Amino acid sequence: IPVEDFDLVIFGGTGDLARRKILPGLYRRFATGQMPPEARIIGAARGEMDAEGYRAFVRAALNEFLAPGDCAPADVARFLDRLDFQSVDARGEGGWDEMKPKLREGVVRAFYFSVSPSLFGDIAERLRTHGLAHRDSRIVVEKPFGHDLASAKALNAELAAHFAEDQIYRIDHYLGKETVQNLMAVRFGNILFEPLWNHQYIDNVQITVAETVGVGGRGSYYDHSGAMRDMVQNHIMQLLCLIAMEPPAKFDPDAVRDEKLKVIRALDPATREHTVRGQYAAGSDTPSYFDDVENDASETESFIAMQLSISNWRWKGTPFFIRTGKRMKARLSEIVITFQPTPHSIFDADAGGMPNQLVIRLQPNEGMDLRVTIKEPGPGGMRLIDVPLDMTFAERFGQEAAGSDAYERLIMDVIRGNQTLFMRGDEVEAAWAWTDPILKEWEEKHDRPIPYEPGSAGPDQSLALLHRSGRAWREIK
Ligand code: NAD
Repeated sequence: IPVEDFDLVIFGGTGDLARRKILPGLYRRFATGQMPPEARIIGAARGEMDAEGYRAFVRAALNEFLAPGDCAPADVARFLDRLDFQSVDARGEGGWDEMKPKLREGVVRAFYFSVSPSLFGDIAERLRTHGLAHRDSRIVVEKPFGHDLASAKALNAELAAHFAEDQIYRIDHYLGKETVQNLMAVRFGNILFEPLWNHQYIDNVQITVAETVGVGGRGSYYDHSGAMRDMVQNHIMQLLCLIAMEPPAKFDPDAVRDEKLKVIRALDPATREHTVRGQYAAGSDTPSYFDDVENDASETESFIAMQLSISNWRWKGTPFFIRTGKRMKARLSEIVITFQPTPHSIFDADAGGMPNQLVIRLQPNEGMDLRVTIKEPGPGGMRLIDVPLDMTFAERFGQEAAGSDAYERLIMDVIRGNQTLFMRGDEVEAAWAWTDPILKEWEEKHDRPIPYEPGSAGPDQSLALLHRSGRAWREIK
């Protein structure tokens, strides 16, 4: 179903994110007919370029980042025809008035801030002073949304000076993943799970976001950020909220976001005893973290594992284990919900079987497994085995449904005016309010992260974090 007609201005339209994600994603939505044929995309960035030059730039990006089969020449030509460009300096006055005639009245108007957050306030202000934004225009802002609570508050205030909260779409591409949205469908669309979704029946929850790459060329940015700011405060916190929140009264942006906010506020303070921080060491052919960031005194973590607890009726006593890191064994993001064992086994002690698990895979291979115990088929007597009830989206629904990227889904939500999968200002601030004290403590105590082997599951201390309570991480394969 096509969305409404729109004009989308991409500030940073010549940047890396626009090239790799935003423009290829928009092209896919165009090719499938979801982006209306009249809709327009206007790249805006510093530097001289005309519309023709921008079309050539976007054509090259599509060729580079889309599968050849996705680029039907006629579709590409029609898509490029929808593009325009406006040179503009976020910090100067040039270019803004020239942008105005490029925008149409009477269609949805959205501005994507795919630029450094230090420019958000400048752009927001100029959109208003040059009369480019209306009361119903929307702005989309990229991460990182702040470096700590104070800077996040300052960013929120800069945006709030020119835009109302219902116009601001803070993007977290994890929320655009099919499986993440499915988590809500599974929880609230079935009678099966919700009665069991609490400390009485869930033994523990694990969230793993593992990457195989190092910090690469982003070393100087990353060294000021680290895994806590780059992954935990935003993406992992969002996943945790969707797992732990109470059922909202309806699937409506504020109803959902109110419930997520309550989870963040119920999180116990993070403690150093329940945290393991690591930095990858050099491998046989890979540089160490120190080499990558060119700072051998760095105290920034490229890996973190934490045990968290939520102090409310539903979750008291169920630990939430989270871990994320770079240069790990495999690229994998998953949520694992491990249920309690049955209260009493009627089978022989050596019959086998293990507690039920719901495994939600964000990548690779988006999908879900529900692990259940059955009898091993055959004449071997009552032997129990675990089998996954497997729902890999690509297998079940085809690559098209499974393969569309989070960015394109979220951009279509912006056009639809649906903020459910975007973070509200108070959520972001609450997440920073939880993150700030532990970040400060590490800094004050000069905590040094523990070196770990590249290609591993992080420092051994991360395994010990779970072993203490007789639990174990689900293996990274
Ligand atoms: P980039 O450096 O590749 O591109 C920056 C863009 O901003 C360019 O188009 C540049 O012309 C424009 N720009 C810079 N200064 C400007 C000014 N004064 N006025 C107007 N335009 C100006 O950056 P990127 O990697 O595309 O990242 C953009 C944003 O997205 C950042 O906030 C980043 O943190 C975020 N982000 C990027 C990625 C990624 O994979 N690249 C992932 C997540 C979030």
